[in-house]
Amino acid sequence: MPRIKAVTFDLWETLIADSRVQDDLRTEYRVSQTAQLLLAAGAAVDLGDLYAAHEEVWRRCELQWRGNADLPFAEQAALFLDLVRPGLAASLPAAVRQRAAAVYGEAVLHYPPQLVPGVAETLAALKRKRLKLGLICNTGRSPGAALRRLLESFGIFKRFNVALFSDETAVRKPDPAIFRQALAALAVQPAAAVHVGDNAAADVGGAMAAGMQAVWVRREAEAQPECLAAIGSVAELPEVLKSLEG
Ligand SMILES: [Mg+2]
Repeated sequence: MPRIKAVTFDLWETLIADSRVQDDLRTEYRVSQTAQLLLAAGAAVDLGDLYAAHEEVWRRCELQWRGNADLPFAEQAALFLDLVRPGLAASLPAAVRQRAAAVYGEAVLHYPPQLVPGVAETLAALKRKRLKLGLICNTGRSPGAALRRLLESFGIFKRFNVALFSDETAVRKPDPAIFRQALAALAVQPAAAVHVGDNAAADVGGAMAAGMQAVWVRREAEAQPECLAAIGSVAELPEVLKSLEG
């Protein structure tokens, strides 16, 4: 096995941990803030319709994601409005539309997930070993623009040589194309790179299909996929990489 020169990471449930409570608070924030914004713009809508549209956006996104394709964030934000009332997004002044998109995308900054314990120290340790680091994230309702700010607030964004978010790349894991894009940016061959993530199909399967090694962050009640190693937390990663050096 060639010497490992780069490590790429999944984001959600690998570097950051979310909870149902925070997710529900973000939903409430998006809905209530959007309702206020529309009311002020003279386009009042029913709160129940906003909640229904919020759920339907996710269903539509999931249909899109099945093909490992993603839509630009502005489209998801406009879709939310249009599912409340067809044509609503286009009927609003550009400034209101932009504010609505900001409210939707920035909910994650108001009700953030937590940084997984040990992540900051682990990334710093890997950088000290002169490894190049990458982030490959399948986004949901929170776009790359907001997630960069979240990671900056945790003090870890500066550790990454490249950070890819699917609302910007238009392609999602497990498509090998997004892994290849990261490797090209890092100027590292696939066999000299390890990807770390908790999703057996998207992270482990996708990375291995791109010719990389993969480390799985264990999920309860899921069988371990075939991969280099399974870890309970990213904090165990330096040990795993050390054992590879032999
Ligand atoms: Mg994940």
